[in-house]
Amino acid sequence: MTTTEAPPSEERAAPRRLPRPSAVIGALGVLSVIATLALWWLGSLPDEVEFETGRPVFINIPDVVVALFYVAVTTFIGVTSYLFAVRAKSWQRGAAESRSGLLERRLHRLREGLTMRTLLRDRQAGLMHSMIYYGFLVLFLGTVTLEIDHLLPGNLKFLHGPVYLGYSMVLDLFALVFLGGLAWAAFRRYVQRPLRLRTKTKPEDGWILLTLALIGITGLVIEAARISLVGRPDFERWSFVGFPLSGLVPESIASGFHLTMWIVHAAAFMAFLVVLPTTKLRHMLTSPANMALSVRARPKGAMREMPNLLEATDVETVGASVPAEFTWKSLFDTEACTVCGRCTSVCPANTTGKPLDPREIVLKLGEVATQTAADPVSSPVSM
Ligand code: SF4
Repeated sequence: MTTTEAPPSEERAAPRRLPRPSAVIGALGVLSVIATLALWWLGSLPDEVEFETGRPVFINIPDVVVALFYVAVTTFIGVTSYLFAVRAKSWQRGAAESRSGLLERRLHRLREGLTMRTLLRDRQAGLMHSMIYYGFLVLFLGTVTLEIDHLLPGNLKFLHGPVYLGYSMVLDLFALVFLGGLAWAAFRRYVQRPLRLRTKTKPEDGWILLTLALIGITGLVIEAARISLVGRPDFERWSFVGFPLSGLVPESIASGFHLTMWIVHAAAFMAFLVVLPTTKLRHMLTSPANMALSVRARPKGAMREMPNLLEATDVETVGASVPAEFTWKSLFDTEACTVCGRCTSVCPANTTGKPLDPREIVLKLGEVATQTAADPVSSPVSM
């Protein structure tokens, strides 16, 4: 491929003293592993207090299963970090291109990416993605809140009484939002099948939806089994999804059923930790990062300065013919591609029947980049 221009000299001035992204990701991975093990140790310190309106953490989960859970989560966090670091090694071999400075504009773009402002321009897709994203985020923060409360000394614990009731209601509400978003996504992809989704639907799309749905559904089922296990106390009615479902779980099987579902839920989360870096689901992290990195001094749409190729005598190659001749930013763009096809659907050449397909260009570059990486890396659309 020889269509990409070399960036002008000021954009090529790479800050060499900065650590390589793969090293930063590796270091964050090590820190996360240590933090997870520390949480396990802190959580094992005896300070469990039972409140009338509240719930104990790890109720009905034997200590050995809790230990296996922490070991497995630690291992999978290490694997996830490794897989992201290997991907970083692939794109960081690109040519230098400075994307430092302009902090205020970068933070603005990052915020737009994290709050999905740009995605909301397409109302349907934006709302659907928001339901999945915010649903997942709130459920995840709910688990973090539970863990924080679990680690606090008895007199500082806050997740009981009215706070617990509100917490229960909000989590059930966002579980529904999350699952509703996933159902909508499945309907769009497999029933409505708009052309730009139909032409690029792969098994990994199904795996992503299945993994996320399994996390959401088992979360609600565990809640129902736990409520049945503790005798369906009245205050649990605030869990307005889990409480009615708990009526379907006979008390006699509640304990075994709860433990089994808890293990399935934990396994689904580990699967998510592998699916995240190896499929396009990685765009949860790479798209906002790429939006922040997209800011540059050159105005949007302004052409790069090109040498006069008819007169230049010191130009060895024009454009790029191998992945390493693209800039790292061009390679990173392929990591953030969600395969949505919007670029192709609004491409004037494509819409008038020309064979130019911008999405295909991005995906092919990503495919070549990943296939020529030193360590095995899955393609932008791998399965
Ligand atoms: S490059 Fe095209 S297909 Fe990929 S995320 Fe951007 S608009 Fe969507």
